Amino acid sequence: MRGLLQMTLDLFDAPAAPSVAPAPVPATEPEPGPAAPAVSLADALAPANFTHPRATREVMLGHARVAYEFTRAQRRTIGFVVGAEGLSVRAPRWVALRDVDAALQEKAEWIVRKLDETRERHQRMESSRIEWRDGAVFNFLGEPVTVRLDPRHAFAGSGGAILDAGPMGEGGAGGQRVLRLALAGNASSAQVRDAAQAWLMRQARRIFTERLDHFAPRLGVRWSKLSLSNAATRWGSASADGGIRLHWRLVHFRLPVIDYVVAHELSHLRVMDHSPRFWETVESVVPDYHQLRRQLKEEQLSRWS
Ligand SMILES: [Zn+2]
Repeated sequence: MRGLLQMTLDLFDAPAAPSVAPAPVPATEPEPGPAAPAVSLADALAPANFTHPRATREVMLGHARVAYEFTRAQRRTIGFVVGAEGLSVRAPRWVALRDVDAALQEKAEWIVRKLDETRERHQRMESSRIEWRDGAVFNFLGEPVTVRLDPRHAFAGSGGAILDAGPMGEGGAGGQRVLRLALAGNASSAQVRDAAQAWLMRQARRIFTERLDHFAPRLGVRWSKLSLSNAATRWGSASADGGIRLHWRLVHFRLPVIDYVVAHELSHLRVMDHSPRFWETVESVVPDYHQLRRQLKEEQLSRWS
């Protein structure tokens, strides 16, 4: 039991792993695959291109030209993996290249679909990434905040100050909040990002501490130490010694979402698993946790990096 109690619990699942072809094609099948479908003129003029950075071979799969990483390996079947970099193919040493090509044609539809999905996901992430400069906008407690570079200001100890700008204020649109950073107008985007994130992390520590102190007595638990995490796949964790880790980027979300994660981790100090008793404990202090949990699952950490 002790071992179980000392376990650190994850809040959420890891992000999608690279896609692996559902059923590896047995390398022993000698018959060639079907011919690639006819390519229309429009497609021939603008073929989709997918290139793995370590590509050594190329193939036409339907309308798509796919350059892939090819390695020989000690294995019995030909394996396909579509990851962030593109398509990787691993084949037994004794399989002829034409059989590799045949296997690729047989799995062509699956491979191209996965390559498309991976590229789309990547583009979605890129387009939502913040450009850190004067005028950049990020969310703080669920509300947009605009970054303004203001070298005249000296913010003792904090490096930044948030002001509520009224309808006539410098911030522009009515009531929008402004984070003033004591940086020169020509500061690099890395400097702006670092200053804004340092400010956000200080706010995170202040807000999380306040919410831990709010919920701990209501749950009848004591927390010992707060660590801010930057983990890729989890929002928070709790350990049996009362240590709580919370992802600092939670400060981007509305307070009820933060409260759910805080209450979730504190509830683990009473129930260390995700049993019905655990969820009843969470519900006792956050009655609408279902909805908040769903909302958090839909958020992408990468949006704010
Ligand atoms: Zn949990």
